[in-house]
Amino acid sequence: MKPNLKYIDIHTHNSITDVDVFKIENFKIGGNFSNKLHYSVGIHPWEIGLESLTNILYQLQTIYCPINKLYNADAIAVKSNFYWTITDMLSVLEIAKKDNIIAIGEIGIDRHIKTDINLQINVLQKQLEIAEILNKPVVIHCVKAYSDFQKIVNETKLKFIFHSFNANENFAKYFVSKGAYLSFGQNLLNKENLQKILISTNINNIFFETDNSNANIKDIYKFASKLLNIDEDDLKLQIINNFKNLFGLDVRNLE
Ligand SMILES: [Zn+2]
Repeated sequence: MKPNLKYIDIHTHNSITDVDVFKIENFKIGGNFSNKLHYSVGIHPWEIGLESLTNILYQLQTIYCPINKLYNADAIAVKSNFYWTITDMLSVLEIAKKDNIIAIGEIGIDRHIKTDINLQINVLQKQLEIAEILNKPVVIHCVKAYSDFQKIVNETKLKFIFHSFNANENFAKYFVSKGAYLSFGQNLLNKENLQKILISTNINNIFFETDNSNANIKDIYKFASKLLNIDEDDLKLQIINNFKNLFGLDVRNLE
């Protein structure tokens, strides 16, 4: 009999659960929060803006923290120039202390959007500090900013997961040499450059994800196992071990 090995979806926005799949769901502001599921939480570069932050704070209050003691609308308005202190950010992400929030993210830098790049870096840095304090890995959103991350990764002991990795082989090698993880999603199915990177990357440093796509994580595993020329169960076991190394959790012991 084959062991019941779960698929791991390292980063998804999909709230549908599947008994065969262990997932880290990106906590959706306003979404349901279950103590039985595992999440990441963070301020995405797309969410940086006074209006959405107010919304985030409001929504976080409804599920967890007593941040209303620390914040009110006026206080938030004063933050409009975004010179945040670590205390401010800790309040924003108070929720991140919860045990089943196992990663901070997705957070990052997106050079494709108009939001001021220094502001993005500032918000990212504060959240990296939070991740360090809480000792949780980070899920990174990176668009046209892999050079920025070369420096950032080099300056910290934090564990990075580059979600939907989409850079060249040199970057892949560099990040892995620094202990980072590369996660592959739907793009793997049709992008030859990513397929090559997956094959050449140390198998101890990979994950798979569905992100916000309609892809099924099982199809991505199936495709990857053919590409890597290994049995699908062996790949599942490998990813379970990668997860254990990074998070200290064995998904076989989790629901
Ligand atoms: Zn995402």
